[in-house]
Amino acid sequence: MSIGDGLRADKAFQSFPDPSPSNNGSDALTPRPLAPFLRSKVLHEGTFGVSHTRVPTESRPGHVALIAGLYEDVSAVTTGWKLNPVNFDSVFNRSRHTWSWGSPDILPMFQIGAVAGRVDASTYGAEFEDFTQDATALDTWVFERVKGLFEDAKRNATLNRQLRQDKLVFFLHLLGLDTTGHAYRPYSKEYLHNIKIVDEGVKEITELIDNFYADGKTAYVFTADHGMSDWGSHGDGHPDNTRTPLIAWGSGVAKPIISRSGKAKGHEDGFSHDWGFDQVQRNDVAQADVAALMSYLAGLAYPVNSVGELPLPYLSAPKADQANAMLLNARQILEMYRVKEEQKKATELRYRPFSGMGDSQASEERIASIRRAIAKGNSSYAIAQSNELIQTTLQGIRYLQTYDWLFLRALVTIGYLGFMAFATTTVINLHVLHGSSQERRTTGSTIFFSSILVALYSVLYIQRSSWMYFLYALFPLFFWEEVWARRDALREGKRALFGPKASFEEYSGFFIKVLAFLGVLEALVGCLILTTKASLTTVVGTKLLRARTVYCTVRVGSTVAGILWYGFLEEEQGTCSDMGLLLRPHEHFHILTG
Ligand SMILES: [Zn+2]
Repeated sequence: MSIGDGLRADKAFQSFPDPSPSNNGSDALTPRPLAPFLRSKVLHEGTFGVSHTRVPTESRPGHVALIAGLYEDVSAVTTGWKLNPVNFDSVFNRSRHTWSWGSPDILPMFQIGAVAGRVDASTYGAEFEDFTQDATALDTWVFERVKGLFEDAKRNATLNRQLRQDKLVFFLHLLGLDTTGHAYRPYSKEYLHNIKIVDEGVKEITELIDNFYADGKTAYVFTADHGMSDWGSHGDGHPDNTRTPLIAWGSGVAKPIISRSGKAKGHEDGFSHDWGFDQVQRNDVAQADVAALMSYLAGLAYPVNSVGELPLPYLSAPKADQANAMLLNARQILEMYRVKEEQKKATELRYRPFSGMGDSQASEERIASIRRAIAKGNSSYAIAQSNELIQTTLQGIRYLQTYDWLFLRALVTIGYLGFMAFATTTVINLHVLHGSSQERRTTGSTIFFSSILVALYSVLYIQRSSWMYFLYALFPLFFWEEVWARRDALREGKRALFGPKASFEEYSGFFIKVLAFLGVLEALVGCLILTTKASLTTVVGTKLLRARTVYCTVRVGSTVAGILWYGFLEEEQGTCSDMGLLLRPHEHFHILTG
């Protein structure tokens, strides 16, 4: 398996003038495909399509989807800034042995979660990823190491024997394109030239392996973890970021389906119109399906938490074998649902089951019916039934994963509203009533708020909820209790602001201060989201994270400075009575929004 990190699908297949620095000839300007080797596999030997990623389009979640078949929970990063918040099963872990080469930011996460000694990871040093040098060196480093391994096997009999076993995986992580994409953008000569380097390298390694084994029993998969936007970035759900190429060829992979008349199937969206593949059927997949495909091709069990669906158009197997593989796929996904449901049932006070699935008896009956269809040779029916079962089960898994969402969203929303009300009462008390209003609590109100908290915490405790849930429950109660205690400020503030004696200046000054408080809140929340997202990324991620931290500091800093400045002005000028000050809050507002 080779992954061209940050290789966007269209760039892999479109034609461009020769981007090679060495070519100064007159033909250099003639557009040509940059990956002729991969192209030949699409046209004559294998199966191709677009692999659609999910967001965030970052290296880590992309690799986890491709190799473990699961879409990693983005919030998992908040459970600790460790390499793997939770270790996971993967295609590598299911292999007899995996050799991997590439970035120190990607390889270790598959090595550490796996059975000890099963995954070899050969990485360059982090300093080698420096942006300033030619990033294609990251790819040639990998190709040289792969060649080195097979070279060593000529002299090392133990290694030679090891390499001739079945169920082996070789993983080439090619980071060059991601680095050139960030530094020069995907239209640049540098990025396009890097595509050539990757294509030539994959060609060399394919020939090397074919010659070494000379038995035609190797399958090859080439894809990318995410794409790259025109601005040289990725992370969001823009199609340039989510569409990556997928090409498979070799043992067990179907030959291309060529249309004799008109366009082949799969090109309906028009995305691939200028790839020169109109006559070749395009078979799109979801990114996690690649894990299922690799498991099948290498003869491995599906990774336990894989939600990948076996992409049948890629298989050259007879229908009966496909039906069996699909049934296994369905049973593996069903097992995941069962385990998750058991866990939920064990902790939930009043569990509401997913209506689409029926009880375990019902799904057993469905499995039995698929088995009968296979036994009778009715493969197409069996495949359709397995497919249906997979879809329902995936919905069920989604149901279980989002079981608490309504509850949590309600808590968080009430908490935010409470914070806004709290900020408003603070501003009114400080700037309208000049601190004259007192907090007022009664025994009744204290008992009321405490009992809600005790009730919520008891439920969370019984359900063995994460400590985060306890925080989510605390904030709304804390803020609303404060608002209640300051209800006098609200009443008096209303009288002062909207009463007959309120001046325009007081009114506008109050309004700007409320905006300032909400601005701080918005900045804090925005930064939290940005840093959470950035923490998922790899090498570029650490740089992005640093950039975002600076950005957030500036943003929060300028907002706070703006508020302080406003407060200072008011101290200086007394009440906002002259025109000059009426302008300044307006200037200040620019700082806030800027
Ligand atoms: Zn990147």
